Amino acid sequence: FAGVTTMLEQQERYHAEESRVLDAVRMANEFKVAVVRKELFLEYQPFIEIDTGRIVGFEALMRWNHPKTGRMRPDLFIPMAEDTGLIIEATRWAFREACKTLKRMITQTGDSALFISVNFSAQDFDDPAFLDELLFTLHETGIHPTQIHLEITERLLLRQSEGVKKILQQCREHEMQIAIDDFGTGYSSLSYLHQYPVSTLKIDQSFVRNMTTDKGVLGLVKSILSLSENMGLAIIAEGVETQQHVEMLQTLKCRVAQGYFFARPMPEHEAASLLAGQYTKLP
Ligand code: C2E
Ligand code: MG
Ligand code: MG
Ligand code: MG
Repeated sequence: FAGVTTMLEQQERYHAEESRVLDAVRMANEFKVAVVRKELFLEYQPFIEIDTGRIVGFEALMRWNHPKTGRMRPDLFIPMAEDTGLIIEATRWAFREACKTLKRMITQTGDSALFISVNFSAQDFDDPAFLDELLFTLHETGIHPTQIHLEITERLLLRQSEGVKKILQQCREHEMQIAIDDFGTGYSSLSYLHQYPVSTLKIDQSFVRNMTTDKGVLGLVKSILSLSENMGLAIIAEGVETQQHVEMLQTLKCRVAQGYFFARPMPEHEAASLLAGQYTKLP
């Protein structure tokens, strides 16, 4: 019966594959209308200056309030949105939303040094109107480009695309900041760092998590910090979860951190009240 079993197995695999494809198609169709139906929303996670405990900015993180399955984490839909190119529309929306939120925060606090960080996918850079869109939105929302950090991944730089390089250079010329997200995880060759106009490295959370128990990882974190100092780059440690992480980063002279120890991503109104507290504490 060996042949029959194999045929049945093959058929089963085929059906499983088919339903996966159908699921993906359905999800893509649902996502297409999600922006229009206002099912997407952003949460904000603060960046903290370790020495003072002050919030210096926020990262905007996308969520999808799916009509049937409820709130969805980005890991579940961003890859689909990237594969289908739907991410371009979603990113435009997210960037605009984030700028509007930042504007409200600046108005509320009077602190024009606050910044906001938005995540970009490689596909976003395929949009010929990319830079014009950003500049238009900045103008429209009244945000100064220096208050914007574009978070990109090493994967994008690995593409070695002249087009991407040019766009990033133009973004820098317009004084936007460029941050490498999950730094150290993307097989990057360090030579990319000086070829691209990078301003900030975000140390990946896996390094922060393991530096307290693994001397090798601690060595890596130290190397990233001295690399950044030598190259004049800013550093943000991601995934800071414990007091021990904070103390270690402080000893290593890492200035800015982000993680559950300080705050989880939260809706705008919570971020705003957290911020308000910080300014009323001033003498
Ligand atoms: P990311 O940009 O590296 O964002 C950091 C992720 O780590 C967030 O997950 C955040 O909630 C989580 N995080 C923050 N602090 C801690 C911590 O102390 N411990 C742990 N375990 N996790 C922490 P989230 O919001 O689920 O986002 C996952 C990823 O999805 C993001 O990673 C980013 O790559 C992507 N993403 C999120 N929003 C967008 C977006 O608007 N556009 C694009 N293209 N990608 C996005
Ligand atoms: Mg990010
Ligand atoms: Mg990250
Ligand atoms: Mg990530």
